Amino acid sequence: MVDTGGLVFDDDTAFLPQIREQASLALAEAAVAVLVTDGQSGLCAADASIAEWLRQQPTPVLLAVNKCESPQQGLAMAAEFWGLGLGEPQAISAIHGAGTGDLLDRVLAFLPPPPAEGAEDEEAIQLAIIGRPNVGKSSLLNSICGESRAIVSPVRGTTRDTIDTTIEREGRPWKLLDTAGIRRRRSVSYGPEYFGINRSFKAIERSDVCLLVLDAEDGVTEQDQRLAGRIEEDGRACVVVVNKWDLIDKDSHTLPAMERELRARLYFLDWAPMLFVSALTGQRVEKLFALALKAVEQHRRRVPTAVVNEVLQEALRWRSPPATRAGRQGRLYYGTQVAVRPPSFTLFVNDPKLFGDTYRRYVERHIREGLGFEGSPLRLFWRGKQQRDAERDQARAAQR
Ligand code: GDP
Repeated sequence: MVDTGGLVFDDDTAFLPQIREQASLALAEAAVAVLVTDGQSGLCAADASIAEWLRQQPTPVLLAVNKCESPQQGLAMAAEFWGLGLGEPQAISAIHGAGTGDLLDRVLAFLPPPPAEGAEDEEAIQLAIIGRPNVGKSSLLNSICGESRAIVSPVRGTTRDTIDTTIEREGRPWKLLDTAGIRRRRSVSYGPEYFGINRSFKAIERSDVCLLVLDAEDGVTEQDQRLAGRIEEDGRACVVVVNKWDLIDKDSHTLPAMERELRARLYFLDWAPMLFVSALTGQRVEKLFALALKAVEQHRRRVPTAVVNEVLQEALRWRSPPATRAGRQGRLYYGTQVAVRPPSFTLFVNDPKLFGDTYRRYVERHIREGLGFEGSPLRLFWRGKQQRDAERDQARAAQR
C-alpha cells in the first residue's frame, strides 16, 4: 500500500514535483489505484486534473468519495463524481467505515492471487540497502547492477520494477528495494535536511534482509545507530557493510581492530555479520549476496522443540535461574519456537518477574551459541504460570 503525498498539478513549488514523481512510480507498480475525493466539498478542478492524468495511465483506477457518512445525502454526494469519467464513484466514510468494505471488495478483484505453498524459495528475497547520505549506497548499487537499470533482466513473476530492481544472484531472484530512492539522491540535491529517514524506514519494513551501509572513515554515527535500531526493532535480517575500505591505510591488525570498534557502537546488531567492501573498486561486493542469503535462511529457520529444550537444559545446568532473597527460585520448564522471520521462542517459566535482564540475556546468548541464527535477530517471550492460568480460565469461561 503506497500513500502518495497530495497531488497538485498547477504548482511546482516545494516538493510538489517530487510528490508527482513518487506518485507515478508508485502507480506504475500498483495493481490498482484508488483516487480519494472529498464528497462534502464536492467535485473541484483539482479532482478533474488528477482524474485526467489517471485516465492516461495504464493502471486501473477506483474512485472513492469520502466523508459520505450521511445516509440521506451520501449517495447523492458521490453521484456528482460520475463526471470524472472513472466509473462508479464509491461513497465511503473513512471515519465511520461506511462503504469501505465494498471498496475493499472492488480493490481485491484487481489483486494478484496469493503465492502458492512452497513458493517461498522462488519468491524474490527483498533486500534493502540502508544508510545515511554519502556512505555510498548508490555507488554500491551501481557496483552491484551497473549504471543502467535497463541491463537488469526482468525475472519471472515480477512486473515493471520502477521503484525496485530485480536481479539474480546465488541462484535466487533478489528484489533490491527502493532503488529509485537511492539513485535519485545522486542527481537531485535536496539540501542537507533531506535525509529521507522515513523512506529508509519504509524500505526496512518491506525487506527480508537489510544491508546497513557504513562509511569506514566515519565509523558509526548517531544516524547509523538509529537505522540499526530500527532494523532490530522491525526484526529484519541484516548484514553490516563497511564501505570505502579502499580509503583506509591498513595492516594486518586494522580490520579486526576496526570491527571491534564498530561493533562496540552497534551492540544491538551483534548478531549481524560484517563485511568490509569498496563500492568504488568492487572489492568483496559480490560476497554480499552469499552472506545475505545465509542471513535470510537463518531468519526463516525452524528448530524442533526437542533441540530447543536440549539447549535450554544446557543453559540451566551451567547457570541456575536467579532466586529472590525470600528463597523463591525461578524455574524454566520448557521452550518452543513459535514463529519465524524473525525466529521467536516462548519460554514457559513459573514467574517471569524472577528472570531479570542479566539472566534473560544469558539465555539468549546461550540459544545463539547452541543454535546459531547468524544474521537474524531473535525474539524471546517469557510466559509465567499465572498468565497461562488466566488465559485458560478465560478460554473456559468463553466456552461456558
Ligand atoms: P549515497 O548517498 O549513500 O548514495 O552515497 P554515494 O554513492 O552517492 O557516494 C557518496 C560519495 O562517496 C561519492 O563521492 C562516492 O564516489 C564516494 N564513494 C562511495 N563508495 C566509495 C568507496 O567504496 N570508496 C571511495 N573511495 N569512495 C566512495
